Amino acid sequence: MNSNEGHRPAQEMQIDGVIRYAWGGVRAYRIPVESFPGHVTNVYLVIDSEATLIDVGFNSDTGRSDLEKGFATIAGEFGEPVSMADVASIIVTHGHGDHFGMLEHPGLKGKRLYMGPPDTSIIRDYHGEYLAWKRHIRSLSEEAGCDLDFSDMYDYDHLRFCQEDYQLTEVHDLDRIISGYTVHHTPGHTPGHICIGCGPFLFLGDHLLSITTPHQVPKSGWSGVGLEVYLQSLTKVAGLGFELGLPAHEETIRSIKDRSEEIRVFHQRRLDELCQVCGQGKNLYELTRDYYLQHPELIQAPSIDHLGTEDFILALEEIKAHVEHLVESGRMAVSAAAGGVPRYATA
Ligand SMILES: [Zn+2]
Repeated sequence: MNSNEGHRPAQEMQIDGVIRYAWGGVRAYRIPVESFPGHVTNVYLVIDSEATLIDVGFNSDTGRSDLEKGFATIAGEFGEPVSMADVASIIVTHGHGDHFGMLEHPGLKGKRLYMGPPDTSIIRDYHGEYLAWKRHIRSLSEEAGCDLDFSDMYDYDHLRFCQEDYQLTEVHDLDRIISGYTVHHTPGHTPGHICIGCGPFLFLGDHLLSITTPHQVPKSGWSGVGLEVYLQSLTKVAGLGFELGLPAHEETIRSIKDRSEEIRVFHQRRLDELCQVCGQGKNLYELTRDYYLQHPELIQAPSIDHLGTEDFILALEEIKAHVEHLVESGRMAVSAAAGGVPRYATA
C-alpha cells in the first residue's frame, strides 16, 4: 500500500448524468433513477473486487429505463465492462420504496441482499408491513383531529418479489461485508437505516441529504425511531471521519460534519418555533398547519390544506416527531380534550 494512500483525494468525473467517484482501486458510479415523477434516487454501483449496488430505486417505467441507461453509460462511456448480470450484491440502506422497489426487476433477483433489521421486514412480509403502515397513518390522522380521505393515495399493496428471490443477510453496526465495507447503523429516518463506509466514501442513504432535512417519524408510531435517536445518529456520522458523503438523493456532501451540524441547528430552531406557534392549546393538525403557514417554502404550498394526502401525512409525522421531543423534555404539555384528540400547550 502506498504510504500516501490514506490521503489521496477521491477523483470525480461526470458523463451523461452518471458521476464516477474513484479512489485507489474503487470506482463508485452514481446513477440517477427517477423513482417517482420529480423524485430521483441516486443508485450507486460500486466496483472493486466485485460489483455491488447500493439502493436500487423504485421500479417505475422511468426508473427501470434510467437504471438500464446508467449501466449502458458505465460500460459504453466509462469503459467499465460491467452489466446488471455482473452485480453480485445489493445493499439497501433502508426500507422505503424509493430504495428497494426495483428489487422487482428480474435482472436483480437471485443476488445477495444486505439490509439492517428491522427494515428487513419489508422483504420478509411486504404486504403485512404495508397494512401496518396504513393502520398507522389512519390512527395518526385521528389523533391529529383530521378526517382524511385516503382514496387519492397511491396504492402499492403488493410488489412482485419475495424473500426467496434473494439471499438476504441482516447486517448490524460495524459488520464488515462484501469487500470489507463497514456497516454503520444510523437509526432515525427508519429504525434499521444503515450507512456504508468504503475507503473515503460514506454512502448515506437518506440519513443526510445535501438540501432537504430527512423526514422524521414519530416513535409512537414506529419503534426505534424518533427525533432524539436521529440526532444521536447525526453526531455519530459526524465523528466517523469520512471524506465524502454520497446520499441517496440530491448532491455530494463535501463535509459530513458541517452538514450534520446544519441539520441539527434546523431541528433545534424548529423545536423553538413550535413552542412559539403552539401557545396555550392546539391539536396536532392545528400546530402542523400553523407551523407550515410560517414556512410555506418547506412544503412548496401555501398551507398543508393544499397538500395531497401523502404529503399531508408526512407533514403531520414530521411535526409529531418534534412534539414528542418537546413533551419529553418538558417544554410542552399534553392534555386530552373531548373526542380523545390530544391538545398541546407550551409549558
Ligand atoms: Zn429516499
